[in-house]
Amino acid sequence: MSTWQIGDVSITKVLEMEKHWPFSALLPGAEEVVDEFEWLKPDFVTEEGRMKLSIHALLVESEGLTIIVDTCCGNNKQRPGATPFDNLQTDFMSELENSGYRSEDVDVVISTHLHVDHVGWNTTFVDGSWVPTFPNAEYLFVKDELAHWSSEPQHYGPVFEDSVQPILDAGMATIIDVDYEITGEIGLELTAGHTPGHVSVTINSQNESGLITGDMTHHPVQFAKPDLASSADWNQDMSTATRHEAYERWSDGRLIIGTHFAGRTAGVLVAEGNSWRFEAV
Ligand SMILES: [Zn+2]
Repeated sequence: MSTWQIGDVSITKVLEMEKHWPFSALLPGAEEVVDEFEWLKPDFVTEEGRMKLSIHALLVESEGLTIIVDTCCGNNKQRPGATPFDNLQTDFMSELENSGYRSEDVDVVISTHLHVDHVGWNTTFVDGSWVPTFPNAEYLFVKDELAHWSSEPQHYGPVFEDSVQPILDAGMATIIDVDYEITGEIGLELTAGHTPGHVSVTINSQNESGLITGDMTHHPVQFAKPDLASSADWNQDMSTATRHEAYERWSDGRLIIGTHFAGRTAGVLVAEGNSWRFEAV
C-alpha cells in the first residue's frame, strides 16, 4: 500500500490494475526518446521498453472528510471501444477495504475528468441497474466537463449513461466550478486539453503542497518531453500548452502524485533546461 502525507492530509493509492502497453498505444513518438531517460526505469518503463500504466484511485483524508479522486474503470461495464476495460471483474472493492475504507465511509467523489477509467466505480450493477457505489457521498462534477460529455458520446462505450447519469438521477451530484474548495486544504486547478474541463487536484496543508495530476500527464516521459501529447487528448495543442505552463509552476518541490504513474507513483519535478526530470520518492 502506498500512502503519502502532505501536512495534515494523507493520500492512499488503491490499485485497480496495472497495464504494460507499447508507448504507441497512448503516446506516439515516445518510443524513440524513452531510452534517453534512464530515470524512467524501473518505476515507469519495463526492461523491454514498454509503458507501465497504473489505474488506481487516490483516497484523500482532509479535515475529517474521506475523498476519492478518480474511480477507475469499474466492473461489469460494457466497453466495446476499449477492450482492456470491457466487462472487467477486478477485486478493486476488496482492495479498497484492505486499505481501510468501506464504501459507506466515502464522503466526496471527484473525477479529474469523465473518461472511462476515471468514473467507473461511481456505480455498481445491482439487480439489473446501476446504483451509486458510495451511498453517503456527494459526487462532484466540474460544470464544463459535465456539459461536454452530456452531449458528446465516448467511443469507449456508454460511459456517461452507466457511470454519470445514474448519479444525477439519484440526486447525489453537485455541479461545481473550478474554484470550488472541497476542504480548506483541497482544491482544484484547471488543466484543460486532455478534456475540456479537466482538473488537477491541489493539496495545501501546513506549508506543504502537492497535487494529483489527472491525465494532463499520462506518463512521466512527458515531463522530459512536454510536447508529447496523448492520442487520447481532446485538444493536443491545448494539452501541450497546459503541460509547459503547469510544469514550470510545479517544479518548486511540491509532491506530484500521478493518476496513471506506476511504481512509486509520486515524486518531485526537477527543472533541466527546457524540460523536467521526475524524481520519484
Ligand atoms: Zn485515464
